[in-house]
Amino acid sequence: MNNPKRIAIFGSTGSIGTQALEVIAAHPELLSVEVLTANGNDDLLIEQALRHNPNVVVIGGDNAKYAKVRAALEHTDIKVFSGDAALVEVAAMDIYDLMLAAIVGYAGLRPTLEAIRNGKAVALANKETLVVAGDIVMQMAMEKRVPVIPVDSEHSAIFQCLVGEHRNPIEKVILTASGGPFLGRKTNYLVNVKREHALQHPNWNMGAKISVDSATLMNKGLEMIEAKWLFNLKPEQIQVLIHPQSIVHSMVQFEDGSIKAQMGLPDMKLPIQYALAFPNRLANSYPRCDFRKFNTLNFDEPDYRTFRNLPLAIEALKKGGNLPCVLNAANEVAVWAFLQNRIGFLDMTDIIEQTMQKVSWIDKPSIDDYYHSDGEARLYAGELMKL
Ligand code: NAD
Ligand code: MG
Repeated sequence: MNNPKRIAIFGSTGSIGTQALEVIAAHPELLSVEVLTANGNDDLLIEQALRHNPNVVVIGGDNAKYAKVRAALEHTDIKVFSGDAALVEVAAMDIYDLMLAAIVGYAGLRPTLEAIRNGKAVALANKETLVVAGDIVMQMAMEKRVPVIPVDSEHSAIFQCLVGEHRNPIEKVILTASGGPFLGRKTNYLVNVKREHALQHPNWNMGAKISVDSATLMNKGLEMIEAKWLFNLKPEQIQVLIHPQSIVHSMVQFEDGSIKAQMGLPDMKLPIQYALAFPNRLANSYPRCDFRKFNTLNFDEPDYRTFRNLPLAIEALKKGGNLPCVLNAANEVAVWAFLQNRIGFLDMTDIIEQTMQKVSWIDKPSIDDYYHSDGEARLYAGELMKL
């Protein structure tokens, strides 16, 4: 029997991270946990470490939390590190085979790049990594011959549709979107919505940032950019359709007009499991989709006029360069401020739009240009909110 695949979960205390631990715990003969990392949730990190016995854990750069995690794991062999630099150092260590990149936001970029640079396979949940620097990330993955396996459900669906089709060009992909909690609502309603409303997603239970992104449809815009890099697509090959039931996770149309879809109940454990075990499918007893209960599946055009983040993301997708990086940074700042109840739901769009106009455009950015554009965009978006 082969040794278990050694998994490093970057962002283990989040929605994706905790579900990944459930998947791994169900298959100890195939998968083992070697690295766990968390930013703030020291208690959960300690609990996870004691249960899964990894080689290394990393806690965010707060000294008190670092001391607490160290003390709690003192009687074990688990090594404890702290801070952003440690995340990158651990990503380079030869103690794991596959990184599950499940940190949220721009913070996931450097450790993921470092994993690829060191020849590690990556199961990618952190879509912002590809939004910010997709060209550099995918180029490095090609040079190092490492797979980047999508975890995002839509991209996992496309990836699954493409198995066995590697000689067949894609005509287009159809990214499905649930529409989020405000599907069908108009601007006069959105102006008053608060954090609590935005966090109530109808079909998925996710971290706070992606829940807000789903409510604004920015999530689908980020996913269009993610799809461009993962599957080497032109913007016009990526279509978004609202599909409120979230049963069809996405579709691929080939050059003969044939369309393949990947379907199932909405449960992130499925794409997580597929990415960790690829190319194998592991048996499980999760609930199955009964089409008699879903006897109507709807597909509609998104409301681009109401949900203006989506056209902004499409503009960034089409123009390219550092614009997706700027869009992402402004969005992260705006979502953070919305979650703190400092700005309204529609203000997020204005902040992103103005930041995209302000930061100078770079056609072919280097990685340092991306780091710089991210900083510049955050600074400007932050200033806009003080007005
Ligand atoms: P989450 O907020 O629940 O968890 C984020 C994790 O990242 C936590 O472990 C947290 O400690 C860590 N983290 C946060 N900020 C950090 C920082 N600055 N430095 C280091 N670590 C940090 O988020 P999530 O919902 O699990 O999403 C994770 C990623 O997966 C996101 O990029 C999201 O877009 C993507 N994703 C999530 C889902 C989902 O169902 N939750 C679906 C598709 C894609
Ligand atoms: Mg998704």
